[in-house]
Amino acid sequence: MAKDLLLTELVSGGSAETLLAAILKHHPDISAPVPVEDIARRVGITDIRDLAEEGGSSSLLVDGAGATGIISCSVALSSPRRRFAIAHQLGHFLLGTQREDGPCAARDLSENRRDTPHRKQEAQANRFAAGLLMPKPLMAASLDSLGKPAIAHVAKLAASYGVTIEAAANRYLDVTPSACAILFIKNGVVHYARPSRAFPAMAIHRGDAAPSSVLSDKIDQPTAWIAVEARDWLILSRDMRSPKVVMQVLAKKNGLHLVMLFINAAAEKRADEEAEKYATERPSFGRGTDRR
Ligand SMILES: [Zn+2]
Repeated sequence: MAKDLLLTELVSGGSAETLLAAILKHHPDISAPVPVEDIARRVGITDIRDLAEEGGSSSLLVDGAGATGIISCSVALSSPRRRFAIAHQLGHFLLGTQREDGPCAARDLSENRRDTPHRKQEAQANRFAAGLLMPKPLMAASLDSLGKPAIAHVAKLAASYGVTIEAAANRYLDVTPSACAILFIKNGVVHYARPSRAFPAMAIHRGDAAPSSVLSDKIDQPTAWIAVEARDWLILSRDMRSPKVVMQVLAKKNGLHLVMLFINAAAEKRADEEAEKYATERPSFGRGTDRR
């Protein structure tokens, strides 16, 4: 009965978000790691096959009426990447955006731009995949129980949700109410840099050299939080007060450093209010010394 109801709701189509809402409504007890293959089979995927080719590709074959589909994933994919690929292809299936021109490549599974119809469809399938593998209510509860942001949380979430560290970082930044940013630095070069909604605009992007303050030799042991120079990381106009930015680094194998930047938004708001009060109370030039 539930199956029929879910299918009826999905057939009516819609955005990644409405599809996810329908799936979650019919899986109220969902927990991490989300059983992506079971969900796929429940909504019309009849088989999940191995694709013998090398590389990170995955594809979807849909029957003429679009009621059922077969997902294929490259055998070269790790388990977290395979789970994301299945969720991404399920997204194409339910959104009705299956590709006619061959399989989706590894780069399509990290696409987030929407400037061409092709990229937009890939980005939508990725939004669906992230929302299915890391449902917002579950992630919000996980972040709550983990407490104040810490870079180790990203690796922990990746392990418990069965996703890559990059997918976990993306979703962490989508869901967290905190002002933080995550960067992946490989051999001193930024490979990934993304702020949360509450974090200011960043001055550092993919391909840039990382500031020299990013240092840690202890593999898998996060550093303590240290204060860093805000202007190394943020776009700040000259007349803007620099916020206090702290950084935590987690070194991984192969020269990879995971970095989290954090700004205490409540403390910054108080400091802004203080600065404003001081500015209005301060005697103007020429009034002489004001001794209290
Ligand atoms: Zn795709």
